[in-house]
Amino acid sequence: MEKRMTPDIAAVYEAARRIYAVARKTPLIHAPELSRKGGAGTEVHLKLELLQPTGSFKIRGATNRIRSLSPEEQKRGVITFSTGNHGRAVSLAASESGIPAVVCLSKRVPRYRIEAIRSLGGEPVVVGSSQDEAEEAYCRIAEERKLTPVVPFDDPAVIAGQGTIALEILQQYKEADTLLVPLSGGGLLAGIAMAAKELKSSIRVIGVSIERSPVMIESLKAGKPVVLREQDTLADSLLGGIGRENRYTMELISRYVDEHIIVDEDDVSRGMYFCFRHHGLVAEGAACVGIGAILSGKIEISGRRVVLPLTGRNVDRSQYLTVMMQEEKQTDER
Ligand SMILES: *Cc1c(COP(=O)(O)O)cnc(C)c1O
Repeated sequence: MEKRMTPDIAAVYEAARRIYAVARKTPLIHAPELSRKGGAGTEVHLKLELLQPTGSFKIRGATNRIRSLSPEEQKRGVITFSTGNHGRAVSLAASESGIPAVVCLSKRVPRYRIEAIRSLGGEPVVVGSSQDEAEEAYCRIAEERKLTPVVPFDDPAVIAGQGTIALEILQQYKEADTLLVPLSGGGLLAGIAMAAKELKSSIRVIGVSIERSPVMIESLKAGKPVVLREQDTLADSLLGGIGRENRYTMELISRYVDEHIIVDEDDVSRGMYFCFRHHGLVAEGAACVGIGAILSGKIEISGRRVVLPLTGRNVDRSQYLTVMMQEEKQTDER
């Protein structure tokens, strides 16, 4: 196994020198209705990672990883497994560098996500009925075709790439004192928490997981990675395990994250509707967990200066429209 160091703040600054060839610095916008929820002195801002090329923040980590490969590794090409957004990011980051990318996905991944990977220049391979099975196939194909793995979260370069979000947040809004971050495999939360705490130790970093797949929370409780049965969720980008041999994200999250909260499917759909109604933004379920937590009162934010990264916009259109219609109807009835 290749030896690598735990990512630190220096790695995040290094990532910031690499990624902006492909990723962009995203705007931070004020959210007046969410701020009012917390009462006087509360300010809530949204960090619009959904404006990234490929529609999610994952372009940061993927670009950092691919741009730090050796020339020999780049020539052979890369491979990954993904619920979609990481696969898209690797496809674009690789094609921007002129190298081939294979993307292994499970049968549970929606069709439109597979097409998106193809259109970005990736080669989708559909295998297995869960993310863990897709992961096994990916190990096999990587070996057979001698491709370099680019993993979605448990990698120092990926974590450092996602950590650049915290650099931007603290440049754009140095008063920020609370970060509410969606959590699945934990590359996003580990990178943001590590970078934010190194720059501002008083900042409070909170992970938001979904009730239907709280894998990191259960793993932290058990003291080792656990595997949970997968269920459908509106926040499909938060599905998947943390890897049976998790090496980085679990450790970093237990060290740097202050608190964990769990939201349910109603919170997710309310969050999605909120983004549409108050900000004119199409955000995917995974992006909206933090807003759902504020709307349902699962997190106390009074007097805090909160930033939520809105992590992605890649929705299944018909499912999205159904959710909007349902929420619109419920709002009328309230
Ligand atoms: C991947 C992803 C997340 C979660 O990131 P992890 O690093 O797996 O915890 C959240 N939101 C969106 C839109 C994603 O694609």
